[in-house]
Amino acid sequence: MRIIDLSSPVDATGWEPDPIVHRIMTPAEGAVHMSEEMKLHFGLEFDPAELPGGELLSLDTLTLTSHTGTHVDAPSHYGSVGTYGTPRTIDQMPLDWFLRPAVVLDVTDVGIGTIGADRVRAELERTGHDTQPLDIVLLHTGASRFTGTQRYFTDFAGVDGPATEYLLDLGVRVIGTDAFSLDAPFGHMIREYQETGDRSVLWPAHFAGRRREYCQIERLAELDRLPPTGFRVACFPVRIKGAGAGWTRAVALLDEETV
Ligand SMILES: [Zn+2]
Repeated sequence: MRIIDLSSPVDATGWEPDPIVHRIMTPAEGAVHMSEEMKLHFGLEFDPAELPGGELLSLDTLTLTSHTGTHVDAPSHYGSVGTYGTPRTIDQMPLDWFLRPAVVLDVTDVGIGTIGADRVRAELERTGHDTQPLDIVLLHTGASRFTGTQRYFTDFAGVDGPATEYLLDLGVRVIGTDAFSLDAPFGHMIREYQETGDRSVLWPAHFAGRRREYCQIERLAELDRLPPTGFRVACFPVRIKGAGAGWTRAVALLDEETV
């Protein structure tokens, strides 16, 4: 079996709308810290120089949103009320949604804007994939080439409401994208709303989750390395209690025969 990493990193040096704070306590600093804690809490004297190399263990402290890097959105992210009941948080989602056969749709030509249901249907047919309930559908928009830059948050394509409903009708419950959002860029949606007065163009992919429970994987990477179909995706979200999303190390699992 071959494993392809589909995740983008949590990288405090990259541009983020909500900047990441990543503080690293080095192993040497960890030794001093431990010595101070021992004295403070237990009255014990310990010279950190007695440790091999004068080092103990490192410690990372991060401040970041659960939507940083590759992550899975839970239904509770889309709104507090669903027509089906209370939308579930990420820790409540069934794990068997997140290890499934997958198909990748090539929509790299769209650039910036909206992908409709006809296009999604045509691309799905082009792959020859026989979509079963709970299969994972990935949208390869090409936006991940801007990962780490400000452009990643403005220049991408997302699906509209009918395209989302089309996939949900097939029984799909996890839809992934290599873009910042499964919806079109904020500016694009708001301009369209101001021109048409049609509220259904505002976050249609996310709000579809208020009618039917489903998850999105956002900020995937390396989708160009995948065959259209014939592989599985594993994207188990981190179990953050009560959260609307969880980070994931999304990977594709390819049986040797399909490579
Ligand atoms: Zn998200």
